[in-house]
Amino acid sequence: MSNVVHVDVMIAERDLVARDLAAVWHPCTQMREHFSDGAAGDGSRDALLPLVPVVRGEGAWLVDADGHRYLDAVSSWWTNIHGHGEPRIAAAIAEQARTLEHVLLAGFTHPSAIALAEQLLARAPRQAGRDPLAKVFYADNGSAAVEVALKMAFHWFRNRGEPERRKFVALHNGYHGETLGALAVGDIPLYRRIYAPLLAEAIFAPSPDAYAARPGQTAEACALEAADVLASLLDAHGQEVCALIVEPLLQCAGGMRMHHPAYLGRVRELCDAHGIFLIADEIATGFGRTGTLFACEQAGIQPDLMCVSKGLTGGFMPLAATLATQAIYDGFLDDSRERAFLHSHSYTGNPLGCAAGLASLAIFDQDDVLERNRTTAERMGKLAKDIATLPHVADARQCGMVVAFELGRDGDRATPFDPSLRVGLQAYRAALARGVVLRPLGDILYWMPPYCIDDAALAQLADITAATIREATACA
Ligand SMILES: *Cc1c(COP(=O)(O)O)cnc(C)c1O
Repeated sequence: MSNVVHVDVMIAERDLVARDLAAVWHPCTQMREHFSDGAAGDGSRDALLPLVPVVRGEGAWLVDADGHRYLDAVSSWWTNIHGHGEPRIAAAIAEQARTLEHVLLAGFTHPSAIALAEQLLARAPRQAGRDPLAKVFYADNGSAAVEVALKMAFHWFRNRGEPERRKFVALHNGYHGETLGALAVGDIPLYRRIYAPLLAEAIFAPSPDAYAARPGQTAEACALEAADVLASLLDAHGQEVCALIVEPLLQCAGGMRMHHPAYLGRVRELCDAHGIFLIADEIATGFGRTGTLFACEQAGIQPDLMCVSKGLTGGFMPLAATLATQAIYDGFLDDSRERAFLHSHSYTGNPLGCAAGLASLAIFDQDDVLERNRTTAERMGKLAKDIATLPHVADARQCGMVVAFELGRDGDRATPFDPSLRVGLQAYRAALARGVVLRPLGDILYWMPPYCIDDAALAQLADITAATIREATACA
């Protein structure tokens, strides 16, 4: 009996892959890698990059059509925080869907958008002596939240009669999304280079990345050195700048590179000194990932604009928000419509997303998630110590619920593996074959699991990561 079921499911899985490859174009993917040797859409198991049809999620695990279970060590692109299928979020969405699935947010409002805005503002980073973040502008994905922040900053100065302030300062190795405005302030060559002719010019400052510190230099000294260069850039160009954008503490897409919080303190001072807005992109770092609810808290700073998305709904719904100060909001109040912020998306403030966001924030309180994460992060750090000693591991680093392993030949930072060896892709395949989703950034493997991951799954993750690194680097 169970054999029969198994065979049926196997057929279903092959069928799903073939139907997918016939109809779906995937994000961030060279589609050619999903096809096995020239054939169109057949056995994906032989393809360079296997395609996994997922039919169910349970906590930290994904289940494919064939019944295989995969540990989601990357939280499905950093979105899932409380686990797949979290019943309290699922119930909140179902209830909201029965009551009000969507209404336009121009001229109308609804209780979930109001309550979520109140909750976000109450929990946002605060800095003594500053006006708090006071207004929430909704969008539906992280890139859109970044576009909103950039446009608000520029438009605010324009309304003030300072249209010459139209440049943005961003950091080397930063990432803020894929739309043209967000890409313009990003610095990941793989995503940016092709579109460079289309992008507005930004001013790039050095990354405070501690991995790039000189031998013997502390993370703090490295961060302050980067801040000194930023200071001179602003001395030269400050008059043309409307805002600076930064991923606080952790440049995620840039390879899980981490920096000392002292950098953010200096950035806050420099932005104030030059009268420019500080935009914190907390899209990946927000909602407990770095140890505090928002990364800015660890530097004791408050931004003027803050972008959130990814974990906002616990990973259930696409939703984003840009938080702004009262002073920014007030700069748009006028009789003229042109002076208003007319940006909108069809699904701005979608009730299902807002209901999921409220449920997710309630879980932070009910389960004391930040406290539980302290224990989980400690355990992750201990498990990482053994992996750090493996040959070809050049660095192991941690920031809260993120641990990253940077591979290098013989563990040497100065000799990365030849990109043509595609060590990261080998690692992806090796981990997937062992039932773990590790989706490396280049040759950087990382753990960024749902917060509900238990000790047994963490131990399994550590074992499989070690085996994966051994296998992927064996013939390199
Ligand atoms: C993912 C990400 C974005 C873009 O969000 P999308 O929802 O993918 O558009 C922006 N900034 C950071 C820091 C991110 O990690």
